[in-house]
Amino acid sequence: MKTDKKQLLVKIVKDVESYVDYLKDNNVTEMVSSSCSQKTKTGHEHAGEPAGTMPPEEGLKTIAAEVAKCVKCALHEKRNKTVPGQGNSHPEILFIGEGPGEDEDRQGLPFVGRAGKLLTRLIVRMGFTREEVFIANIVKCRPPNNRKPLPEEMNACRPYLERQIAVLKPKVMVLLGASALDGLIPSPLPGRTISKVRGKWLEYAGIPTMPTFHPSYLLRNQSAMWDVWNDMLLVLKHLGRNVPPK
Ligand code: URA
Ligand code: SF4
Repeated sequence: MKTDKKQLLVKIVKDVESYVDYLKDNNVTEMVSSSCSQKTKTGHEHAGEPAGTMPPEEGLKTIAAEVAKCVKCALHEKRNKTVPGQGNSHPEILFIGEGPGEDEDRQGLPFVGRAGKLLTRLIVRMGFTREEVFIANIVKCRPPNNRKPLPEEMNACRPYLERQIAVLKPKVMVLLGASALDGLIPSPLPGRTISKVRGKWLEYAGIPTMPTFHPSYLLRNQSAMWDVWNDMLLVLKHLGRNVPPK
């Protein structure tokens, strides 16, 4: 009986150890159970140029120039233009989407298609212009046929986003959809979905981060707009901003 208990204890300790290793592999350094928030390191230490030491505009340009030449994953093969991101280099909010679609790939700009028009309306309704925020994606090249980016593609591309975050130093980040969520903050446990975590603050590199639904999802499920709007009210509240009158 005693040895059974001891073996069980040894097994539990081993399980906890491998779980902690898994968290470390995913850059999670602290978990706050009460608010479901996760702290992660910036991770930009494993990315090329120290863009943080130059003015933000130049840092962003350096990153965009590297992206333009990047062949780190197979998405480079079919891309037309890379889409590094666009907006203010000192934004209050950084919006992060999944990856370029057809329109974005043609123009080299993020969120300019149908989903982009909806995102732009949301940004304006929040009292900002597109130029005042920054808009980026988890992957900078278009996945063929608009499929979701694969984990290896998101892993290959993540250092660019991490460096952009380090340069931009946004007050708040908004993760648009499951790819943005999983791409930036890998789940410590299986079974996490965007529906379950949206509307709850996470933390990435010390920056409050709000996951919500992707605008493309809203095009198909209009009632989810209320959920997204409620999430954006939390963002505005955090920034100490009032909802602008219509
Ligand atoms: N969807 C995204 O996730 N990103 C874009 O840039 C456009 C559509
Ligand atoms: Fe490079 Fe990212 Fe494009 Fe892949 S998606 S080729 S990692 S820029």
